[in-house]
Amino acid sequence: MIKRHLAFQKNNGITPYIWTILCILPFYFIFQSSSTIHIIVGIILTVVFLVSFRIALAAKGWIVYVWAFFLIGISVTATSLFSYMYFAFFLAYYVGNIKERVAFIILYFMLLLSTAASINISIFQHDEVFLHQLPFVIIVAISVILLPFNIHNRKERGQLEEKLEDANKRIAELIKIEERERIARDLHDTLGQKLSLIGLKSDLARRLIATNPVQASNELKDVQQTARTALNEVRKIVASMRGIRLKDELVRIKQLLDAAEISCEDISGFKHVKLSPLKENILSMCLKEAINNVVKHSGASTCIVKLEQDWKDTVLTVSDNGIYKRAAESKLRGHGMLGMKERLEFVNGSLQLLTDNGTTLIITIPTDAKMAEKEDAQ
Ligand code: ATP
Ligand code: MG
Repeated sequence: MIKRHLAFQKNNGITPYIWTILCILPFYFIFQSSSTIHIIVGIILTVVFLVSFRIALAAKGWIVYVWAFFLIGISVTATSLFSYMYFAFFLAYYVGNIKERVAFIILYFMLLLSTAASINISIFQHDEVFLHQLPFVIIVAISVILLPFNIHNRKERGQLEEKLEDANKRIAELIKIEERERIARDLHDTLGQKLSLIGLKSDLARRLIATNPVQASNELKDVQQTARTALNEVRKIVASMRGIRLKDELVRIKQLLDAAEISCEDISGFKHVKLSPLKENILSMCLKEAINNVVKHSGASTCIVKLEQDWKDTVLTVSDNGIYKRAAESKLRGHGMLGMKERLEFVNGSLQLLTDNGTTLIITIPTDAKMAEKEDAQ
């Protein structure tokens, strides 16, 4: 409780004290009057004003106008009867809190007019109490001019900040979704391949076990090896998707191409290229999928892998001398190319497929300005 009170004080500063004084102050003016009826009327007016003000703060829609006119009416009456014009502070606060712009502007001008009229009437009447407190009257007038705008702008800024916070939450949510999709793609590219290989090899081993147990045992060894590799890859994914390095991927694709008896004499450009970890990771995944496709679909005898970089773009080219199989020819629709495209879009990259002479895949991603600068400096 005490904590909440202290927090309230900290957030609001001296404002609560000013409001308390403004709630008590009218009675000082009222009790200066000599007539009992005046005093009773004054007390009723003040109580009605304060209660109405509290209710009016929660009003919405056209009711706002009704409450505003009612409160302005009481304020003008209090000024002319008791030379008490500090209700204008409450009204300035009330008008400042009106969200709707048109209502705010209309009631702001109404408030200015009513305050100007009250001051003029009091000066015209040569009211002594009023003239004594002229410096305070000037402060009230200035507040009535500035306070509503100040409060209104603060409210608008608060609303914008809330919207910004909402937008940030949504962005965080989208990043999570994107991350999930990325993990799904990575699982597909690393595990999908291995699991289908395990399936094929174990099926082959099952069929060979009766006729050729030695060959079956070899196949099972392969299954074991592939399962181990898959496990390692899963560990890597789980270890927060540690970025895959291009040089590691190069070693793996060489092994893969060797195993598939596809010659790959020309692997060039990898030594001098500088990439951010994210882009290197994405490029490595694309290279892995491109080589998987060459092995799986092309029937090629040679494959060329090239990486070139200039200040603008980094381009990875994977070409083979096989035959491109149209998607319709293959029985199942794969996700590999789609995954590559999605990944590349993430870093403003692009994918180009040429199928005239064998298959050529051109993967382009923008070079990081910082990396290019570093290279220039060296
Ligand atoms: P997944 O990658 O999901 O395991 P997939 O390899 O069939 O399946 P994609 O990588 O999207 O799917 O490839 C789409 C299709 O493009 C392939 O099915 C194949 O027909 C054709 N293709 C891709 N690369 C080559 C290539 N190097 N040579 C011949 N055909 C290819
Ligand atoms: Mg594929």
